[in-house]
Amino acid sequence: MAVYLDHNATTPLDERVLEAMLPYMQGLFGNASSVHRYGRLVRGAIDQAREQVAALVGAHPSQVVFTSCGTEANNLAVRGVAESQSAPARMLIGSIEHASLRDPAVALKGRGWQVEDIAITPAGVFDVEAFSRQLNANDTLVSAMLANNETGAIQPVAALAEQARAQGVPFHTDASQAAGKIAVDFNALGVNLMTISAHKIYGPLGAGALITDKTVTLQPQLRGGGHERGLRSGTENVAAIVGFGKAAELALAELEQRRQHWLALRQQLEKGLAGFSPVTIFARETERLPNTVQFGIAGFHGETTLMKLDCRAIAVSSGSACHADRADPSHVLLAMGVDPALALTAIRTSIGKDSSAADIEQLLQAIAEIVASPLESAALAANL
Ligand code: PLP
Repeated sequence: MAVYLDHNATTPLDERVLEAMLPYMQGLFGNASSVHRYGRLVRGAIDQAREQVAALVGAHPSQVVFTSCGTEANNLAVRGVAESQSAPARMLIGSIEHASLRDPAVALKGRGWQVEDIAITPAGVFDVEAFSRQLNANDTLVSAMLANNETGAIQPVAALAEQARAQGVPFHTDASQAAGKIAVDFNALGVNLMTISAHKIYGPLGAGALITDKTVTLQPQLRGGGHERGLRSGTENVAAIVGFGKAAELALAELEQRRQHWLALRQQLEKGLAGFSPVTIFARETERLPNTVQFGIAGFHGETTLMKLDCRAIAVSSGSACHADRADPSHVLLAMGVDPALALTAIRTSIGKDSSAADIEQLLQAIAEIVASPLESAALAANL
């Protein structure tokens, strides 16, 4: 039986989400901007989805700007803020951000911007004290993620945002991995902007959102018909947005049930991993997403282990999925001060709501076989 343990990369579409979407892919069509009944019908469906998505993060529906994905929302935050400034200035971003945040920020350097990293501690969380020394009132934006996609470490975003607010600096958080896995409250976090993504919560590909408190001026990255209050032009992807709404509703309603399930399987996995010595669970001492375990077994190259697991029909990741084609050590682990050789052994497992104890058992059994044949592993690694 195939085993999928890579839910931080993407989740399968929930049947109930598909059911909600199907009418908008079959008979019900319309341009939500049209005044006639076809338009009004899909406008109503988008409004409902806006309410469902807002509820997942405790925001008001009018604060939701639908985008095509989390990457687009991150780009809108970073570039949208930067391009609303009259001159290049300084931006602070987490050293562990996803490429979809990091790359647009780093690209600003070519336009005269100063982009500085917010350091993390060896435990895998932002260093709040160092941040307070680094931040100043002239900074244009701070962006720091709510939970890391690799280690799962939950970040002290409220503490960072409080400092930024005291200095009058806008704050964005990428909550793509946190939303639907832990309780997320936009207002309690005290942030101005937040990214979320549908396909991380059993919704479809093709929908994401930037939540905004409307106090930060953003230059739209797509101009045209003025959709989404002028912040994201483009005829709405109705079925995907409806699916995002349904997925958000289910994620909120089932959060506690999913959390208990994830925690039980995570405990089973971590207990089993302890038997493979020497194993390191990264950010172990930190509060982590209930579904995520990133670990390394010394001497076993992560990419090789991943391939050997794939041969056994078990899907995991060796770190960020977007870097799956590279053999560089994870920038997240390096930022934590993990030895590069150990970082190269990293395997990320992310459990799903429909994963089972048998899936975890199958993974542990496969790892037992892999570590029992280190020579084969070394040969594979040499061919990488
Ligand atoms: N931010 C984080 C933390 C992610 O893990 C991902 C996807 O892996 C993204 C943003 C990008 O989201 P999307 O795939 O919807 O563009």
